[in-house]
Amino acid sequence: MHEAIARLRAEGLARIDQAATNEALEAVRLALLGRKGELTRLLRGLVDLEPAQRPAVGAALNELKLEFGAALGRRQSELAEHHTAAAVCDLTLPGLPPVVLGTAHPLPSVLEEICDIFYGMGYDRDEGPEVELEYYNFTALNFPPDHPARDLQDTFFLGTDILLRTQTSPVQVRTMERRSPPLAYVFPGRVYRNENADASHSSEFFQIEGLRVDRDISLVDLRETVAAFVGSFFGGERPTRFRPHYFPFTEPSVEVDMQCMKCGGRGCGICGQSGWLEIMGAGMVHPNVFKAVGYPDDAYTGFAFGMGIDRLAMLKYGIDDIRLFYENDLRFLRQFRGVL
Ligand SMILES: [Zn+2]
Repeated sequence: MHEAIARLRAEGLARIDQAATNEALEAVRLALLGRKGELTRLLRGLVDLEPAQRPAVGAALNELKLEFGAALGRRQSELAEHHTAAAVCDLTLPGLPPVVLGTAHPLPSVLEEICDIFYGMGYDRDEGPEVELEYYNFTALNFPPDHPARDLQDTFFLGTDILLRTQTSPVQVRTMERRSPPLAYVFPGRVYRNENADASHSSEFFQIEGLRVDRDISLVDLRETVAAFVGSFFGGERPTRFRPHYFPFTEPSVEVDMQCMKCGGRGCGICGQSGWLEIMGAGMVHPNVFKAVGYPDDAYTGFAFGMGIDRLAMLKYGIDDIRLFYENDLRFLRQFRGVL
């Protein structure tokens, strides 16, 4: 009997080792341990033995049953590992689906493009909070207490003197409070106005402002800076012109027009037949703003300008509705893949 067990052990372990597939291994398991398996048959034969022999033979058979079970489990793991390795290396499998790359939204892309142009002119960049104190958004910028822009019609007030900033200009004040001239900065960011949305208005949009303060800065420096920016951003030589305007924080103040890129100045639907497109507001920093930030009287002059990033992006890419930037329609956004 012990010989039969030893033979079954050697044969069984060999057959388990040789099983090349899960199906073959299952067949070996049934042949050894199944209801009609060889080990099962030996166990049933215990009743035919002398009672004195039964405990030792029974123990040996049970031990072999456990050994077969362990060997079967081990072989099953080997086959699974082999299968995985083979799948990784199977060059006939179909390839992975193409990787779908996202695309940058046109507004931050244009924002960064504008910043890059000013970095090239030696400007630094600063940013400030979107939830702002009324002092920084209006008072320090020389807005009179009764100025209509402070009105609830235009401004989202969050408290008596806290609001969503209506312009990026408060960052100019915050930066000048911390730094002494000479300085040259751009201030990009999101701003909010209490306006009804239409094709050219949105209650939130992006602005970028610029500020340069030094001794003997004049409107000529502003003109040169504007011309350099327009040439870099829109390409080519584009005539610009200054029109007198009013802003509380600059004196004199101007609005800057660029010759219409569509019609070259002859007049078309985009420029309202005028031949010119308004691209920014600008001017020389008002002495009251310097006073608010503690700069000494008459020591410095400076210019500031502000542009709507949405508007510049619309002009550059011929987009006729500002709401497209905020609706997140993928058909619109995907057009900018590879463009920006
Ligand atoms: Zn035109």
